[in-house]
Amino acid sequence: MIQRPPLAEDKLAMLIGGRWAAAASGEYFESFDPFTGKAWALVPRAGVADVDAAVEAASQAFRGEWRSMTASARGQIMARFADLVAEEAENLAVLETRDNGKLINEMRMQCKYIPQWFRFFGGLADKIEGRVIPIDKPGVFNYTKLEPLGVVAAITPWNSPLMLATWKLAPALAAGNTVVWKPSEFSSVSALFFGRLFEKAGFPKGVVNIITGFGHEIGDRMVTHPRVAKVAFTGGDATGRRVYQAAAGGLKKVTLELGGKSANIVFADAKLEAAIPGLVSGIFAATGQTCIAGSRALVQRSVYDQVVEKLVAFAKTARIGDPLDPDTQVGPITTLPQRKKVLDYIGIARDEGALQLLGGKVPEDKAIADGWFVEPTMFGNVSQSMRIAQEEVFGPVLSIIPFEDEDEAVAIANDSIYGLAAGLWTQDIGRGIRLPDRLEAGIVWVNMYRATSYLSPFGGYKQSGFGRENGRTAIYEYLQEKSVWIDAGNSIPAPFVQR
Ligand code: NAD
Repeated sequence: MIQRPPLAEDKLAMLIGGRWAAAASGEYFESFDPFTGKAWALVPRAGVADVDAAVEAASQAFRGEWRSMTASARGQIMARFADLVAEEAENLAVLETRDNGKLINEMRMQCKYIPQWFRFFGGLADKIEGRVIPIDKPGVFNYTKLEPLGVVAAITPWNSPLMLATWKLAPALAAGNTVVWKPSEFSSVSALFFGRLFEKAGFPKGVVNIITGFGHEIGDRMVTHPRVAKVAFTGGDATGRRVYQAAAGGLKKVTLELGGKSANIVFADAKLEAAIPGLVSGIFAATGQTCIAGSRALVQRSVYDQVVEKLVAFAKTARIGDPLDPDTQVGPITTLPQRKKVLDYIGIARDEGALQLLGGKVPEDKAIADGWFVEPTMFGNVSQSMRIAQEEVFGPVLSIIPFEDEDEAVAIANDSIYGLAAGLWTQDIGRGIRLPDRLEAGIVWVNMYRATSYLSPFGGYKQSGFGRENGRTAIYEYLQEKSVWIDAGNSIPAPFVQR
């Protein structure tokens, strides 16, 4: 096992109004390392009073120095922050892996990539322009401005803690908002170290506040607080629904990035040597704990047996082990309840008659017995009526579904309440262009899978959510348009008629 030195501090602190604070109650909760199964950090257990303090700090910061700063100056602070994250990327990656058990290679890649978001959106800060409207009223000058919304409540899940927060924080800050961010209770440690870099980069106090605690205890207050203007949420669809309902009471703006049951479709004409690792990376990378997991492999019947055989052979070679070891390919599940959920779904799939092709249990290897592992698991001959074909498992469980032709592939892929992503493997250029139009998904990859960038929009169709993160247009999710009218003609208004 790779060394896991203890943290320098016994107890971590939250960032509220530029102050490093314990919870008002003085309570803490334990954060667990999913590989050792042991608690490794003590995190403040925020209560409603802490939410109120953080929102108050963010609200004051919104009206203070941050608001009067030029957009260029805001962008420069974000660029400084990007440099600091780049310097700290390795440390942050190790913290993330210890907290959520995801592979060090993946967390390294994410932590090294995060600075690009702050550079890109920081650079965009002073390129947000209003318009002059050629208004149809003589002597009147009409222009528009894009203004920030105010306090943004950002709520994020445990699977890619810093990356998914970055997708919210970078555009929100570039647009001039202030933020109260609550990471998942299962992965709060890296957030609190990330928080130190905001201070160092020169963000005014209160612009970024980080509170740690349980969603069921403080989530509702974050969403309903009267001074929160917008809720940016990533998480499961059941929680998303609750957040949306709670936010409706205060008519707050909301973006929701939710779950998925994404189809990864292999046609007989695909280059199979690329499609097979593509299917594997779609589901077993991140141990299936990714919203864009290609958890349904749709395989054309004429190559079904061949693909299944190769897929099983390839997946069998995946190295399960310590996520801090760069040679490991499959790590543990982040939480014990989530492992139970994954194992329950495996049982349901068997009961419903799916054919188990691989895995299906907790690994027997004693060297990893303390970790919360589930073997990479595959089910064949899955039909659309099975729960395993419809519900998000969020674990290393692949459902393989045969199809006859293009129409049937599209029908199966679209037969889902979700619409986050889809993958398509084909050498037919016409099909590669035609099918993305027919797939009900916010992201479609052709002959590739699971790529994201700060440059390209990310978000769901149907019950995978709404609003877009990443790409230039994401900043507009954090802006509102104001129309300013000026009478430049010195006219005397007619008092009782609309002008
Ligand atoms: P979750 O919904 O349980 O928790 C997400 C966040 O919501 C956590 O911070 C949690 O504390 C908070 N929360 C819980 N109850 C709340 C409440 N009542 N009010 C406000 N906040 C509350 O999700 P999870 O288990 O941490 O993450 C897994 C889910 O996230 C999966 O469904 C996955 O598909 C989804 N996800 C989506 C994306 C995306 O971009 N579409 C990315 C990653 C994960």
